[in-house]
Amino acid sequence: MTSQTSADPVAVVTGGARGIGLAIGQWFLDHGHRVALLDIDAATLSATGHRLRQPGRVLCLPCDVSQPDQVQQAAAQVMVHFGRVDALVNNAGVAVFKPALETSFADWRHVLSTNLDGAFLCTQAFGAVMARQRSGAIVNIASISGLRASTLRVAYGTSKAALIHLTRQYAAELGNYGVRVNVICPGPVETEMAKLVHSVAIRSDYYDTIPLGRYGSPEEMANTVGFLCSAQASFINGQSLAVDGGFDAAGVGLPTLRRTTPELHHVGQASP
Ligand code: NAD
Repeated sequence: MTSQTSADPVAVVTGGARGIGLAIGQWFLDHGHRVALLDIDAATLSATGHRLRQPGRVLCLPCDVSQPDQVQQAAAQVMVHFGRVDALVNNAGVAVFKPALETSFADWRHVLSTNLDGAFLCTQAFGAVMARQRSGAIVNIASISGLRASTLRVAYGTSKAALIHLTRQYAAELGNYGVRVNVICPGPVETEMAKLVHSVAIRSDYYDTIPLGRYGSPEEMANTVGFLCSAQASFINGQSLAVDGGFDAAGVGLPTLRRTTPELHHVGQASP
């Protein structure tokens, strides 16, 4: 059976060459999907394609998601190769962490064009296919930085907050065509991006502040995205889910109060 005639569902993952995007692509492969991975980094994408070793089921498309013509071309190639689209994950993202007043317009445009324009352009292209099919699911990858403001993230945090609202806008309209749109807000995740922008001190602060006391893994993000794209999530639309070990729920809090976790032998004992 050729890939074009397969009945298996198709997932499109942007920024799929590595990190969270690659884990999401792997989740879809493990759950019977054919997968199109789009990424600006053609060399890493090609190496990833070879590593996955499923040529008929994996389509690797070099694509800058911030460029309308490249996104249109990628959508056309997905349709020629696979003939349908059942899931879109807008995961491609970049982070520039700088003081607000040192953030140049070029920095701002780089972050906004990838993180926000990219999700818009891909949803226009692939969402239209799903709307015609009258089914599909879209998941955007935002960040806890889109839920609350913090230093150094004037462009990144704003792009992710806008992406959360973009999700609701699309959910309100695409829901009419049977297409669900949701967003996840990861806390810190062990990837190349995290290595780039998280110093040793930042890491230790995160360990201290996250109730589960650790970073998340790309696979934990992929499991959540997979669930949101699955039939098990068939009535979930327009929602934002923090996948962050409790970071958002707990807030930053007072360091002294955070250190008052009682010893377990005092907890749950009946009074004498
Ligand atoms: P990563 O840098 O490891 O991977 C991102 C991928 O996106 C790379 O392969 C990169 O080449 C690709 N990409 C960048 N610009 C692109 C463009 N214009 N067009 C197409 N592809 C492009 O990062 P990651 O940690 O896996 O992050 C994935 C997503 O998760 C991002 O949107 C990021 O903002 C978000 N996120 C990450 C963390 C974290 O701690 N790692 C936390 C919260 C949110």
